[in-house]
Amino acid sequence: MPISSLFRKEVLAMSAYKVADARGLIKLDAMENPYNWPEDIKTSWLKTLKDCPLNRYPDPEAKQLTETIKHLNRIPDQFDVLLGNGSDEIIQILLMALPSDACVVAPTPGFVMYKQVSQSLGLDYHGIPLLTDTFELDLPAMLAAILQYQPSVIFLAYPNNPTGNLFSEASIREILKVAKGLVVIDEAYSPFADASFMSSLPEHNNLLVMRTVSKLGLAGLRLGYIAGAPEIIEQLHKVRLPYNINSLTQISAHFALSNKTLFDQQTQHICTERTVIFNQLQALKAITAYPSAANFILFKTPANSANKIFESIKQQGILIKNLSSQAGPLTDCLRVTIGKPEENIAFLNALKNSLNQLI
Ligand SMILES: *Cc1c(COP(=O)(O)O)cnc(C)c1O
Repeated sequence: MPISSLFRKEVLAMSAYKVADARGLIKLDAMENPYNWPEDIKTSWLKTLKDCPLNRYPDPEAKQLTETIKHLNRIPDQFDVLLGNGSDEIIQILLMALPSDACVVAPTPGFVMYKQVSQSLGLDYHGIPLLTDTFELDLPAMLAAILQYQPSVIFLAYPNNPTGNLFSEASIREILKVAKGLVVIDEAYSPFADASFMSSLPEHNNLLVMRTVSKLGLAGLRLGYIAGAPEIIEQLHKVRLPYNINSLTQISAHFALSNKTLFDQQTQHICTERTVIFNQLQALKAITAYPSAANFILFKTPANSANKIFESIKQQGILIKNLSSQAGPLTDCLRVTIGKPEENIAFLNALKNSLNQLI
């Protein structure tokens, strides 16, 4: 009997999530904040770590950090919060708590982890195509999918990754009303968007709002959180592993979030640069750039040239993300994360060079 027969067939059919090697390259592929901390803040941070008892297990409930997160995110008092080792882990915890015949729905193109985790658990996943060109929700198709599949969970990234847009609020409210299952609004990019469903938690008993500190500027810590009704969060706590947020993350995240003005300034810079890059991409006749409420911009290259342009930009020392192989509406599409001004200039120059090479 081959060893592989020990594993579930859906696991055997999957491929692992691959992350590109960025060594030696300007990294504009993963929606990271390009800025580090000033020296004085680093020094204060290291002081908070000095007496961390690494011989002890972490606080299993991360009480202090949870309080800080509830306060800073204005999570209404009567709602509970679950922390995860990144919001990726929260997606996994939530899906692991479902019955094995449960169905999961999300618009496509969307965040790959919804599908990846659903498939690894053998759940029935359905991607519902967004409208072409605008990447807006196809509301009739979403409502039809809700009727047909009765999904236990619907994931809506707000703004959406990789398209960058905020879906229509009215459409989301309609989905919240019609869905009998849970609706997770994934606000990973909330620092860059002027819209949120956090204050709508009291209006819908099936609404969960998920966020992360990753895109804000703390991707290395691995910390995400989800807010919702206590009777939902209670079930998730049973599935999560006891010490999923390590001591260093708890202390560092509490410290960093207490220095919020620093992140607010960095976020401001990133949003300003987003406008600059968008306008410059728009000015290139060969490129179609899609409006973004996140810290990245999706753009379409001339037909059949995305791979060439991606490779040429990489040759010039800059790593972005090639989405063209995902086909469908992402055919010919590349995605660039907003970096520091000098990194963005380098990217735009590399893109222009690569377009000239095509002719
Ligand atoms: C990046 C991203 C996440 C994952 O964030 P982590 O907290 O780093 O795991 C979740 N959802 C969306 C839509 C993302 O783009």
